[in-house]
Amino acid sequence: MAEKVCIGRCDTYEYPLLREAVVSLLRPLGGIEAFVGRGDRVLLKPNMLAPKPPEAAVTTHPVLVRVVAELVMAAGGEVLIGDSPGLGGFRRVAERSGIRRAAEECGARLVPFDDIVEVQGTGVFRRIAVARAYWEVDKIINLPKLKTHEMMTMTCAVKNLFGAVVGSEKPAWHLKAGTSREQFARLLLEIYLLKKPVLNIVDAVWAMEGNGPGNGDPLPVGAILAGVNPVAVDTVAARLAGIPGDLLPVEREAVRMGLPGSRWEEIELTGTGLETFGQRPFKLPAGLDVQFGLPRFLKKALRNHLTPWPAVSERCVLCGVCRDACPPGVITIKNSALSVDTGRCIRCWCCRELCPHDAMEQRRGLLLRVASALGRRRRSRQASSSSEPRGISR
Ligand code: SF4
Ligand code: SF4
Repeated sequence: MAEKVCIGRCDTYEYPLLREAVVSLLRPLGGIEAFVGRGDRVLLKPNMLAPKPPEAAVTTHPVLVRVVAELVMAAGGEVLIGDSPGLGGFRRVAERSGIRRAAEECGARLVPFDDIVEVQGTGVFRRIAVARAYWEVDKIINLPKLKTHEMMTMTCAVKNLFGAVVGSEKPAWHLKAGTSREQFARLLLEIYLLKKPVLNIVDAVWAMEGNGPGNGDPLPVGAILAGVNPVAVDTVAARLAGIPGDLLPVEREAVRMGLPGSRWEEIELTGTGLETFGQRPFKLPAGLDVQFGLPRFLKKALRNHLTPWPAVSERCVLCGVCRDACPPGVITIKNSALSVDTGRCIRCWCCRELCPHDAMEQRRGLLLRVASALGRRRRSRQASSSSEPRGISR
């Protein structure tokens, strides 16, 4: 059965226009009433990564959160808004991102994810600890922001569900996955399969390119996307962003697991054609390594040459946020100096993602710089020669 994904044009966060665009977007899926019944407790799960203002494009825009909350309430549902931010604490992120105000305006309840419940996994990960507020609601509506991501290349619907894992547990999961993006992708997909969101609505009115998810550049794309299946939604989002599948660990793992929506041919796209956005490929994170596609023995042998490493810049104020977030604990601050044990670093980039001063940089060796340049050339050749994909219906 085809996986339906809807895409619509919206160039603004002005309330009435965005509301109208979201209502039109959901129409082919049956409207919000197809997903929410009277009395349902519905959790909205926006991206609340860090305490940044809406214009930084780090968090899901508060007007989109408000619009969806009001639609759910109009359908008779009770709305909770929750997440587990990587940095800054839930209340602070809610305040700075404008989501607290949006919740107040529409009468939704904010729920920090701090209580944990251990859940029996169905795949490789046998026990997964997720937030009780996530697990115990009747329905989840996932509200991701489309952004580039230094570890996983792109964050959208599937990656946004990592927020179900309570902040204090996140480093342990990064450690379990180690340097393997495939293993981390598997974890993300298994979190999705634990408790599937009933609906995913993507904020790509302004997306983020470059050094996302915390320190990239806002990019006006003018798109909103919706679908029941987050894997399918991500497949379309990646096309919109011009990111090839071989750079996307989640997409590749979803194909390996045989999950519906991981192949373009399985998707039924409705709404605005992708080509009408005229979107150039997103700039990818500068230090994205180029190990993808290499045989395992070569990856191991060339790891230090083909992987960037973290290095602190003069912007560092020694606040210790990165040290406290580093899953293997390889960052130390001693005698007013910060150092990283790059030999034990697992390249998860939590330090860069969470640094409030954008002070953790990536260093790249000569071989990596050459390989990255070749990769960019190959991608731009692919993008200019790719025609309208097959299997599309509008
Ligand atoms: S690199 Fe950033 S997070 Fe780490 S100590 Fe320096 S300023 Fe703080
Ligand atoms: S130093 Fe940074 S990239 Fe390396 S393991 Fe620690 S948080 Fe991850």
